[in-house]
Amino acid sequence: MNSYLQSLIQQRQEADLYRTRRQHTGPQTPTLQIDGQPYLAFCSNDYLGLASDSRLKRALQDSVEHYAVGSGASHLITGHTKAHHDLENTLAVFTQRESALLFSTGYMANLGVITALVGRRDAIFLDKLNHASLVDAAILSRAQLHRYPHNKLSTLARLLAKSTAAHKLIVTDGVFSMDGDIAPLPDLVELAKTHQAWLMVDDAHGLGVLGNTGGGTLEHYGLTAQDVPVLMGTLGKAFGVFGAFVAGSALLIEALIQSARSYIYTTALPPAIAETVQTSLMLAKTDSWRRQRLQELIRYFRNAAAQHHIPLMDTFTPIQPIILGESQKALAVSAALYKQGILVTAIRPPTVPQGSARLRITISALHEENQIDRLIKALVNVL
Ligand SMILES: *Cc1c(COP(=O)(O)O)cnc(C)c1O
Repeated sequence: MNSYLQSLIQQRQEADLYRTRRQHTGPQTPTLQIDGQPYLAFCSNDYLGLASDSRLKRALQDSVEHYAVGSGASHLITGHTKAHHDLENTLAVFTQRESALLFSTGYMANLGVITALVGRRDAIFLDKLNHASLVDAAILSRAQLHRYPHNKLSTLARLLAKSTAAHKLIVTDGVFSMDGDIAPLPDLVELAKTHQAWLMVDDAHGLGVLGNTGGGTLEHYGLTAQDVPVLMGTLGKAFGVFGAFVAGSALLIEALIQSARSYIYTTALPPAIAETVQTSLMLAKTDSWRRQRLQELIRYFRNAAAQHHIPLMDTFTPIQPIILGESQKALAVSAALYKQGILVTAIRPPTVPQGSARLRITISALHEENQIDRLIKALVNVL
């Protein structure tokens, strides 16, 4: 086995695809402590800066005192507390749906809902740039898998028209995690209606960030639960905590409780995590300054980048990638930034398509203009 594993690792190294993990030793904020030095980071998904908020810390501490640390069992045994149940109700209200169901992670939520909805006689349609967990879920479901080119709805329409599957499920990211652009949801809603397909949106990067109240990509477009019957969201990104959920009709959630295997056969989240998310959802909704500040900083970054002819993609989300092409180039640019005290990880295949390795810059409401100035200056030096 060792020689096989060594060859796997060597292949990764030779293709500039070898991954390493950097340890940091302090709080999750725009400045990270690494090897005793501060690094200015533009990599986290903590878009609203809630992960380090003192009110969240206090909520977690209080709830641990009340409930204990672990949940002790899965939801269907004795792991389901009032904290979990109340959070599901809050998430249903937040997403304007009848019901919501908590999952331990977004990866598991996607596995659970997709394998519950479709099987061998069905077909599933995915955007090429959908998150890996959606692709894995589709494969696990055994439904016939169709992947259409990114946002190319004419191809999707053709595939839908040709399909004779019993059920058709279209799945898309709301905000694409590595490109930062937004899916054309109103057109997808129309296509789903025309072809009697079901539509599911994974809004891991839209919720909390887009829409006036942080309702995500659906609020941005003004779409309802009738338009998008299956909505998945995560709680470890803009909401700054951990976990995920699926929201929809009461019937959908009841069916998931009965049949979503990644819900049934796993330990429930610690109840204190669920209670902490209550605080974070409240702050995400009421602290609208966080979203305004974030948009201000995104505009600031984009203006400064344009002035220095740094090529960006056409997006106003906090995900602002700079495409560099080969993995080697992305690694070299990331390493050069690191030497200047700036942390932006190189994103390479298979996370992104071949030849589109990139810096994935993300902005948080806690960044400052002078920090963005530092980033731009460093980029001008190294690009
Ligand atoms: C991060 C992410 C997930 C996975 O969520 P976790 O809670 O981190 O497991 C799923 N889908 C998308 C689009 C994501 O960006």
